[in-house]
Amino acid sequence: MTTTKTHDIQATIKQIKSLQKLGCELIRVAVFDQQDAHALKDLVQLSPLPVVADIHFNYLFAIAAIEAGCAGIRINPGNLFREHEVVQILEAAKLYHTNIRIGINSGSLPKHIIDQYGHGAVALFEAMQEFVHFFENHHFYNIVMSVKSTDPLVTLTANQMLAAKFKYPIHLGVTEAGTVVDASIKSSVGLAPLLLAGIGDTIRISITGDPKQEIPVAQKLLSAVNLNHDHVNVISCPTCGRLDFEMEPLVKKTIQYTKHLQVPLTISILGCVVNGIGEGMNADIGIAGSKDQGILFVKGKIVKYCPSHQL
Ligand code: SF4
Repeated sequence: MTTTKTHDIQATIKQIKSLQKLGCELIRVAVFDQQDAHALKDLVQLSPLPVVADIHFNYLFAIAAIEAGCAGIRINPGNLFREHEVVQILEAAKLYHTNIRIGINSGSLPKHIIDQYGHGAVALFEAMQEFVHFFENHHFYNIVMSVKSTDPLVTLTANQMLAAKFKYPIHLGVTEAGTVVDASIKSSVGLAPLLLAGIGDTIRISITGDPKQEIPVAQKLLSAVNLNHDHVNVISCPTCGRLDFEMEPLVKKTIQYTKHLQVPLTISILGCVVNGIGEGMNADIGIAGSKDQGILFVKGKIVKYCPSHQL
């Protein structure tokens, strides 16, 4: 999701392009006011990625986003208070074939749901079920579902319940997950079991700060569950007393050099021959470091012996 003011078209497009360069495939923008809603038409034209408009409270912004040609809109029907407003959004979306993500967060559940079910997985599921039935009763089926909690295990259970009941696509995420370390761990714990079970069609890692941080975490999570094949995987050891060369700068340089590549490539950089030879043989490119005689492997074959600082 972009963090720029959406009506600042130049800054928003610049951010979208920088995220696309890292591998982002779908972008969501906040529609906070009339200026933002007005900017959507130009944004959709200029954006290299499909745009999803994130709308709260104001159904007219949702209709404006649909008419602007957004690929999708995300609404939380719980904060669009009048039924006839939601119906008007559905009718516009039908006309423009726009998909609607029903996005339910633990922090914005409808009051009657909280009163009956609290804030846990059942509450998220019941809220979604209610809205899906409402949409279906109005013959709207171009639905994406998302239920997000700040608690990874609640997110996990709620999504399992959704997947067992409905066939609509699911967008995955743990909401308000914190800064990069917290968000990476919470998202991995909450989402990996879902991904491994084949649940989830799109994913967002929610991280406080620059959204560019979100893409590599998502890619690495998908890669770890074997769902991202166009990804550079850098294997490196934690180092120990056997290390005899400056390994960390080499690892950082390699990550920096390869971060824009979207190709399946495994690079292994290990500090010595203990595991370095085995990992190096199995990687596309491997280094088993040593002060005097580091070994460089390409596709399992040794191509060079030399001090590691020369590799
Ligand atoms: S590969 Fe070598 S340097 Fe790296 S942690 Fe293992 S034993 Fe230590």
